[in-house]
Amino acid sequence: MKIICDWKNCNEVGAYKAPIEKDNSKKFRMLCLEHIKIFNKNWNYFENMNDQQIEYFIKSDLTWHKSTKKFGSSENFFNILWNNALEDKLNIFNTSDYKNFKKTKISQQDRDALQVMELNEDVKWEKIHSKFKELVKKFHPDKNQGSKKYEDKLKKITLAYSQLKKTLGKK
Ligand SMILES: [Zn+2]
Repeated sequence: MKIICDWKNCNEVGAYKAPIEKDNSKKFRMLCLEHIKIFNKNWNYFENMNDQQIEYFIKSDLTWHKSTKKFGSSENFFNILWNNALEDKLNIFNTSDYKNFKKTKISQQDRDALQVMELNEDVKWEKIHSKFKELVKKFHPDKNQGSKKYEDKLKKITLAYSQLKKTLGKK
């Protein structure tokens, strides 16, 4: 039996997982290619979170409750995010859809985010994305013999990346 895309009024086959909740649960819904692209492009984990909630995210142990098996094997929320970013098979991070910074308009939040990602201010989206992939690969526990010592760092990188994506993603 084929799974039908969960998007409203869509009857295509749902072959891609989209996470539902911002926790470590494995709840997800299935979407077709067209709709997973829209979902991924618009999705920002930190949207509508206040500072306290973001602080909680940084300090919490949400990400890896269990030791991971194989890189990207888990279906949890963060692995979906990272796998989307790392593989980008769907071309969801198509560079032409992103703006570039105009020097006069960089906010303090963006400045901080660029610093976390070790980038300078005249960076283009393409570089931000490739740097994100590079940092995730470097600090992911599956690439460090399961060690969680970089977990906080990886969370901050994810937060910074989401901030920049929000600023540069065209509406
Ligand atoms: Zn669909």
